[in-house]
Amino acid sequence: MTFDVVTAFPGMLEGPLGFSILKRAREAGIVTIRVHDLRAWAEDRHHKVDDAPYGGGGGMVLMPGPLFAAVEDIRLRHPAKRDRTILFCPQGIRYDQEAARRLSGYDRLILICGRYEGVDERVREHLADESISIGDYVLTGGEIPALAVIDSVTRLLPGALGNEDAPRRDSFWDDRLDHPHYTRPAEFRGHKVPEVLLSGDHGKIAAWRREQAQKRTAERRPDLLERRREDDEATKH
Ligand code: SAH
Repeated sequence: MTFDVVTAFPGMLEGPLGFSILKRAREAGIVTIRVHDLRAWAEDRHHKVDDAPYGGGGGMVLMPGPLFAAVEDIRLRHPAKRDRTILFCPQGIRYDQEAARRLSGYDRLILICGRYEGVDERVREHLADESISIGDYVLTGGEIPALAVIDSVTRLLPGALGNEDAPRRDSFWDDRLDHPHYTRPAEFRGHKVPEVLLSGDHGKIAAWRREQAQKRTAERRPDLLERRREDDEATKH
């Protein structure tokens, strides 16, 4: 799988992409990540990629010219079969684990990072296939959303995590949260690890984990259980 990120601040991305699981996935060729400097497609010698908004008001808006040129160039130079172009925008569809799973089915994602007041609307209308928001808050740019998508999609790709079905045990896979985790020592500052985890009884441990996952989902995220119930109903009918 390949990610082509288009950003006016490429330096914001490289650091976080160079550690741990992402670093290994890149080295193993599971994922290719190319970070493109939007200014390379600027149309003037000052490398200008933004301009004042029509209609007035403060701030700057990313111009359509460099963004269209960048994306079209990337598509031409690096053609991909199942290809998707995503614009990051707080007004887009809310990103979640299901979206990560859906996106992991593409061969290549082109990720467009907005900045300042945002991006000329024609980019959404005529260049991007979809707009994604990573939550109801406003960031200064699309670089952190791009990192969130790259990270969450990469860990779903076969071989990225040591264990093939590790993601299935994580929160949100089945509309439920993960169970609690403990490691050594068995007692820390007087707080003990639940006895059952030390028992070596795999059946009991599995039952305890299921129970804990169910309990904390009910307590913390009843909306997930409701969603699962609705899905079950839908498949019955
Ligand atoms: N004026 C815009 C916000 C612009 S924020 C509005 O109110 O809708 C600048 C850029 O940061 C956006 O173009 C987008 O690319 C990115 N961004 C900010 N918050 C985001 C979020 N929650 N999800 C995805 N992208 C976001």
